[in-house]
Amino acid sequence: MSYIRAPEKPGKGSRLKRFALEIILIALLVVGVIAFIAYPLFSPPREKIAAMPNALETLIAQRDATYDAIRDLDFDFQLGKLSAGDYATLREKYKARAALMLQQIDALGGGNGAAEAQIEAQVAQLRRAKADAIEDEVARVRAARKPTDIRCRHCDAPYQAGDQFCARCGNRI
Ligand SMILES: [Zn+2]
Repeated sequence: MSYIRAPEKPGKGSRLKRFALEIILIALLVVGVIAFIAYPLFSPPREKIAAMPNALETLIAQRDATYDAIRDLDFDFQLGKLSAGDYATLREKYKARAALMLQQIDALGGGNGAAEAQIEAQVAQLRRAKADAIEDEVARVRAARKPTDIRCRHCDAPYQAGDQFCARCGNRI
């Protein structure tokens, strides 16, 4: 440092100082730019750890949605809203989708394998959870379809409670 402070011509000393300062600034800038560019190259482990739970959560949500779809499909079939052929086709499709989700979840370390058994177990669990409400609905639909014991006094055709005219003979009930 003494050479900078040395009593030389004042212009030369300040020029030297400014030159040193510029070198330092440029060096800092270069280091900063390199650090900025190189940072992602050295930090992927941390970013991966941060990104993984999100990917896992998304997959798990998608898997659960697929389970819901399978369960609803089962109920729709029970309620007679689907043909056996459509039901089988759709169920296979949903199961394939759920299996794919499980595979990806396993790949991220969030699952425990045995895809087929897992799908059926999960769907069964969801089914039990919703079973009471659905059983009621099934019973209601069946009751509505079932011929009643009340019959027309003119032609003996069964009619539903609340009907005002007989569907067969047209007479007032
Ligand atoms: Zn009648």
